[in-house]
Amino acid sequence: MYTFRRRRKKRDTLLHRYGSQMGRISAETARAALKETQAANRAIREGEEKLRMQANYDSLTKLPNRTLFMDRLSHALSRGRRDKSQVAVLFFDLDRFKKVNDTLGHNAGDKLLQQAARRLTDCVRETDTVARLGGDEFTVILPDLHNTHNTELVGRKLLQRLAEPFVIDGAEMLVTGSLGITVFPDDGEDAETLLKNADTAMYKSKEGGRNTFRFFTAKMNAEALEYLELENALRHAIEREQFILHYQPIIDLKTGRVTSAEALLRWDHPERGIVAPAEFIPLAEDTGMIVPIGEWVFRTACDQMKTWRDIGLSSLHVSVNLSARQSRDISFKDMIHRILKETGADPKNITLEITESLFMEEDHRTLAILSEFRTMGINLSLDDFGTGYSSLGYLKRFPVNILKIDRSFVVDIGKDTESQGLVEAIITLAHSQNMKVIAEGAETEEQVEFLRSRGCDEVQGFYFSRPLPAEEFAAYISAQAAA
Ligand code: C2E
Ligand code: MG
Ligand code: MG
Repeated sequence: MYTFRRRRKKRDTLLHRYGSQMGRISAETARAALKETQAANRAIREGEEKLRMQANYDSLTKLPNRTLFMDRLSHALSRGRRDKSQVAVLFFDLDRFKKVNDTLGHNAGDKLLQQAARRLTDCVRETDTVARLGGDEFTVILPDLHNTHNTELVGRKLLQRLAEPFVIDGAEMLVTGSLGITVFPDDGEDAETLLKNADTAMYKSKEGGRNTFRFFTAKMNAEALEYLELENALRHAIEREQFILHYQPIIDLKTGRVTSAEALLRWDHPERGIVAPAEFIPLAEDTGMIVPIGEWVFRTACDQMKTWRDIGLSSLHVSVNLSARQSRDISFKDMIHRILKETGADPKNITLEITESLFMEEDHRTLAILSEFRTMGINLSLDDFGTGYSSLGYLKRFPVNILKIDRSFVVDIGKDTESQGLVEAIITLAHSQNMKVIAEGAETEEQVEFLRSRGCDEVQGFYFSRPLPAEEFAAYISAQAAA
């Protein structure tokens, strides 16, 4: 503080001294003055930066300290209130850290804290905050959440990362942590309360046997347990042959004939019965399990197409849903090529349904792969169109040739003129880009007639049929052909 003030004073006298000589001074003196002033300014900036660091950051780990943590938490809560999003606070305490300090010395303890800090930071997004409150206590803020299961995944990842062996001064050591989780707005409205609740939850996980996590509320603990069970069951679902594909017919509105089938995944759970994709696809995406599951779906759909071809349904196309996480997988492109080769499926009879989320992050690699697929003849359709950022700009940039109007617009046909107008606009827009339009979720004759009259190419919905098991699907087509 002292040197910093003195420097500021020095700069002022310098300015004064050289300033009063203005008009008489040589260019050289002016340059020297300028240099000195710049150096003094730099020193002030450095001093200020140092102060800011001291006030807000922990000197050992370079993580935000309690002050900055509380400040960021308050900001995150304001945003949460405004955007109606959740904010999770994780309270993390190393198990038996005191023992490390006592047996190996403080120096080793410090190194352990530094390494632990780095590991914790590696596990979270850039927008999350990892702070050190003091001692062996760390806290994490996960802002902008829309589903608490992600919190649990982060929590588990933190514990796992920490449980990997540490190497301190050449010696390997195992350290675990206990984690308490609390969530805004359910568990508390303000920063203090949330921090206190996270601390309480952390003590519960210490009591629960360490190296584990607890939520602050019993309800959330029960949900977490259920989710964990679901995840474990999902891990075995492929090998236990619990997945099935159902197929929903897509009908050409001009000819009335079935042109293709959308493959929709079902999980036949031994206790729960048939589980809908909405209940497990997000989990599969979060955990990366969507990669092997997606491969199973693609292979099964291609095999099915072969079976249908063998019974004379050779022109039937199959549509497969693709999640963004799957397409970013390093082996995605090879997987598609390999299965096409192994099953002998014709790329022209295949459609990959993608959603806009795939394009949210400018992912050039995925874009290039999809363009290549398009060149091979694979069809690409933009699913759930109208629910995201849907714009003409998007359509022009992405190699899609089919557009699927989301069910939420189709439902309103006949009820809401605005949605009706949107449906018309989307059809015109798609046609102007030489794209085929499919409407999803038609349930009434009125909706189908409206879509037909506005030039929509194809339609899919309960009005024609629900998604069906493969044999029933073939029977449906035969019945149609006979009619
Ligand atoms: P989606 O691709 O938009 O699929 C259409 C969904 O709308 C299906 O739900 C279908 O059963 C439902 N649907 C169709 N017609 C009607 C109708 O007339 N009325 C109503 N109320 N619903 C209708 P489902 O099978 O539950 O699938 C939901 C979502 O799960 C799918 O939406 C898709 O995003 C995802 N999904 C399904 N299978 C897979 C898969 O194999 N991989 C991936 N990544 N996602 C999948
Ligand atoms: Mg779809
Ligand atoms: Mg859809």
